[in-house]
Amino acid sequence: MPLLGAHMSVAGGMHKAVEAALAHQCQSLQVFTKSPSQWKSKPLAPEDIKNFRKAVKAAGLKKTLSHNSYLINLASPDDALFARSIDAFADEMERAEALGVDYVVAHPGAHLGSGEETGLRRIAQALDEIQRRCPGFQTLILLENTAGQGTVLGSRFEHLGFVMESVRQGERLGICFDTCHAFAAGYPLFPKEDYQATWEEFDHRAGIKKLKAFHLNDSKKGLGSRVDRHEHIGQGALGLEPFRFLIKDKRFTSLPMVLETAKEEGEQKDMDGVNLAALRKLMK
Ligand SMILES: [Zn+2]
Repeated sequence: MPLLGAHMSVAGGMHKAVEAALAHQCQSLQVFTKSPSQWKSKPLAPEDIKNFRKAVKAAGLKKTLSHNSYLINLASPDDALFARSIDAFADEMERAEALGVDYVVAHPGAHLGSGEETGLRRIAQALDEIQRRCPGFQTLILLENTAGQGTVLGSRFEHLGFVMESVRQGERLGICFDTCHAFAAGYPLFPKEDYQATWEEFDHRAGIKKLKAFHLNDSKKGLGSRVDRHEHIGQGALGLEPFRFLIKDKRFTSLPMVLETAKEEGEQKDMDGVNLAALRKLMK
């Protein structure tokens, strides 16, 4: 059975996210270790680190993920922004390593007009430098597939494959698959034949063995829309069917599957509970 979980808020302390995960019977958890829209962050206090590690253990979470800052662009053609992105990424790796987080999930980057191949080479170069600065770390980097808006890279499986092949320490790099992004990028996930074909394509272009985690999100927009708008499970353009396929897919047993959907909807203040219940029902 996959390790269901959600992205949880760390407001009030890193360990608060673990409490929320526990309250929802999660087996996996994603957090921000700092504000995702700011470059600067206070170092984590030793107390924060201790409390988080203790809480993760006590809650029995099997996998933990952190999501990287949205400001980071490893494909930036601007040298100053490129260097700043590498520094910020290495900082996130250190925070995650200290917290004992398994994976740092990152969007590959946007080439901003320099071209796809130039951008992808830039990403590989950046990852080489980040991994060089983080020798022996337990925390691994996962690149997330994207919806492909603007000049954003990573919407094609071959983009991810290219970076995996290009980095020196490819064994320290994996993929996080976002269902909403894949669908918005033009990869169908239902009916069954299309689901199978998409995974064949993924395996061929990027490698199914590189897949370490999922973001489970329905999509507000349609197939190939290239618009990244998450919807509650079963309530968007994907519907329930793809999630049933994923949850029952033997290849993905024991992988973390994390919700990144809105926490509230109108009167309903616990949408994580609603979405997790919808997913658990599909396992039966
Ligand atoms: Zn995602």
